[in-house]
Amino acid sequence: MESKGLYIIDADQGYNMLEAVAEAKRCLNCKNPTCIGGCPIENDIPEFIKEISKGNFGEAREILARKTNLPAICGRVCPHDLQCEGHCILAKAGKEINIGKLERFVADFDHTMGLINEKIPRKTRGKVAVIGSGPAGLTIAGDLAKIGFNVVVYEALPEPGGILLYGIPDFRLQKDVVRREIRKIESYGVTFMTNMVAGVDFTVDTLFQSGFDAAFIGTGTNVSNNLDIPGKSLKGVELSSYFLRTSMLANEGKLNSSDVIVKEGSKVIVIGGGNVAMDAARTAVRIGAKEVSVVYRRSEEDMPATRAEYEDALREGVQFRFNSNPIEYLGRGDEVCAIKVMTEEGEEILEGDVMLVAIGSKPAKRIVSTTEGIDVDEKGYVVTREKPYGMTTLKGVFAGGDVVHQPATVVKAMKEAKKVAEGIAAYVDAKKLLDL
Ligand SMILES: Cc1cc2nc3c(=O)[nH]c(=O)nc-3n(C[C@H](O)[C@H](O)[C@H](O)COP(=O)(O)OP(=O)(O)OC[C@H]3O[C@@H](n4cnc5c(N)ncnc54)[C@H](O)[C@@H]3O)c2cc1C
Repeated sequence: MESKGLYIIDADQGYNMLEAVAEAKRCLNCKNPTCIGGCPIENDIPEFIKEISKGNFGEAREILARKTNLPAICGRVCPHDLQCEGHCILAKAGKEINIGKLERFVADFDHTMGLINEKIPRKTRGKVAVIGSGPAGLTIAGDLAKIGFNVVVYEALPEPGGILLYGIPDFRLQKDVVRREIRKIESYGVTFMTNMVAGVDFTVDTLFQSGFDAAFIGTGTNVSNNLDIPGKSLKGVELSSYFLRTSMLANEGKLNSSDVIVKEGSKVIVIGGGNVAMDAARTAVRIGAKEVSVVYRRSEEDMPATRAEYEDALREGVQFRFNSNPIEYLGRGDEVCAIKVMTEEGEEILEGDVMLVAIGSKPAKRIVSTTEGIDVDEKGYVVTREKPYGMTTLKGVFAGGDVVHQPATVVKAMKEAKKVAEGIAAYVDAKKLLDL
């Protein structure tokens, strides 16, 4: 357990060597492994597990590195029950191999022992700018640097990592794990420039003027939707994304606990039914809120949060109100004290002194509004094409991750980014050939 500013980080410690080998030995090494099909980036799962079972952790690491730059992260936050583990043949008997934990073991062992020995070629194939450093940007940067591209990542925030750093709470993904994965990508020769906002500090056009051959937009969906109901300006109403970010900063001692809206003894209502709502609720529990309820407008079955996240929230004492549609925040003076919801039985008033809104997010317009020629759809998502994969309507400008396909998962952003990296490489190689 790690004691920090705001609450105790009670993260699962993962396997030790004996446990990992024992778990790996349970793998049946199927002739037609279904687990691979469950992994969006098609990690060679039986192969890396076989190496663990023989004690060859370095070999296991090499196998994972063929497909992923972020094994320590995927091993912790992928929805394994819906992916690899859900597709494991042993899942039918409820005895699936704990693939996520094994991936995490290999990545952590690699880090502890300093096994990394990536042979990175000289940077001779061209210069690529990556805007945004979430899993999409990090994947592009890692994949391109490993095949000889000179990559510079521009990140708006003071530290790279995107949602991995500022969104997913530290009790599920410790921040030192994110930082060390970024250091690994940095060791491939990638340059990170932070506090650099595209559309403010530079534009896509200025990138090309300064000699980049291609640019990648991986800026995610960092505009959170707000609930437009009376009382939304009352004190105590806050976006969950802001709450998660301030809690993370306070936990690291970079912000005063008094700047975090949830306090010990708060009565918190979280509005929404996705994984962000679960994270906000569980973080509030850890801070010491007296009562935490999630209010969701549809039924339990309709809730978009993954089953595992929902069950963890229930186990930790979070209460759920389904089929309750918020219609008004009520205040005492300028502070919120309750929310009025419409249920099947009529209006109901739920008391609370903190309201956290978690009802989705969308892309910002900063880049497309300062660059001519990048088309977006009616919801603001960047339009890309199949050939070269991921190129936008503006030549040489590519996009991938949540900013293209809507908020999804870390591994989905990685999967798309891997394909876009191939598209960028093909485009830059062709461009260089024609330039000659
Ligand atoms: C609270 C929360 C919990 C989640 N939990 C999970 C989970 O457990 N498992 C899972 O698989 N997925 C989870 N997700 C979803 C997952 O994190 C996202 O799908 C993924 O991070 C998207 O990656 P991305 O690289 O496209 O964007 P992001 O991670 O959003 O990264 C975008 C980056 O671009 C930067 N940026 C934005 N605009 C600019 C600009 N103009 N100039 C420069 N930089 C800019 C941002 O600061 C950010 O660093 C969660 C999401 C949230 C919000």
